[in-house]
Amino acid sequence: MTEITILSGKGGTGKTSITAALASLAKDTVFCDSDVDAADLHLILKPKNLVKEIFEGAWLAEINQQKCSQCGLCMEYCRFESISLNGIYYINPFQCEGCRLCERICPSQAITSKKSTNNFWYISETRFGKMVHAHMGAGEENSGKLVTHVRKKAKEIAKNNDHKIILNDGPPGIGCPVISSLSGTNLVLLVIEPSQSGIHDIKRLIALIRDFNIPMKAIINKYDINLEISEELKNYLIKEKIELLEQIEFDENFTKAMIQEQSIIEYAPHTASAIKIKSVWEKLIQL
Ligand code: SF4
Ligand code: SF4
Repeated sequence: MTEITILSGKGGTGKTSITAALASLAKDTVFCDSDVDAADLHLILKPKNLVKEIFEGAWLAEINQQKCSQCGLCMEYCRFESISLNGIYYINPFQCEGCRLCERICPSQAITSKKSTNNFWYISETRFGKMVHAHMGAGEENSGKLVTHVRKKAKEIAKNNDHKIILNDGPPGIGCPVISSLSGTNLVLLVIEPSQSGIHDIKRLIALIRDFNIPMKAIINKYDINLEISEELKNYLIKEKIELLEQIEFDENFTKAMIQEQSIIEYAPHTASAIKIKSVWEKLIQL
C-alpha cells in the first residue's frame, strides 16, 4: 500500500483542486482529507456519508458557580489567561487550553473538565471511491490527533478492500497537523505557487520533510503568473534534487469546474492543464 500526501506549505496554491483531479483519475484508491482544520475536498467529491462518529477533542474546564467561593486562585494560576472575573469567575471556552491545572488547585472542587465533542470524522462514498474526512468545531484543538485518526481509518479501508493507494490531501503550513499527515507517508507531492510567500513557505516545508526522509516530487501550479519566480523555483528544486513533474498554467477552468462541483478532468478534460495532470498521475503510478 502506498500513501501519497499532497502538501503545499501554504493555502491557495490549488492543492485541493489538483488532489480532486488526481482522485478522478485514480482506481482502487482511498481518499483522505487530512486538512481537518479547513476541509474542502468534499466540496468537489460530494461524498455521501456512510459513517459519522464523534472525535473527542481537548479537555474543556467549567466552573460550577454554586460551588465557587470566589477565591480567585484559578484566575491567578491560569497561564493562558482563559479565566476572567465579571461578577462571577468565568472560563472562556475558546481560550481554555485544557491543561486542567485550575481543576487541581480549586479549593472548592468547583471546576470540572470534560472532553469536547464538537469534532466529527466520516467515512463516505464518492463517485471515485471511499473517502475519510473530518469536521472540526470552531476554536477546537488537537487537529494533529484528528489527522492521525483519519489517516488510520483510510489505511484500514485500503487494507480491507485491497486498495493499493491512499491519496491524502494534507494541511497547509508546517505545524502539528502537517507533521501528523507526514509521519509514515511514502511520497509527498508538493504543489507550489510561484509567489514570494509560496517560495518562502515551500522552503520551510521541504526542510521539514527532509527530517522525515520522505521522497518528494513537485508541481509548480499557475507557473505563468510569475515566470521569474517560477524560474527561481525550478533552480531551487534542481538544487534540492526534487523532480519537477509538471508546470501547470493558470487556468480559469479550475474555478469553473469547482463551481460545478467537478474536477478539471471531468469539466475540461482536453485542456492543457488537464492533460498535464494526467501526465502527473501516470508518473506517480509508475513511481
Ligand atoms: S479556584 Fe475555584 S473557588 Fe476559587 S475562584 Fe476559581 S472556581 Fe472559584
Ligand atoms: S484548564 Fe488550564 S487553560 Fe483551561 S482554564 Fe483551567 S488553567 Fe486555564
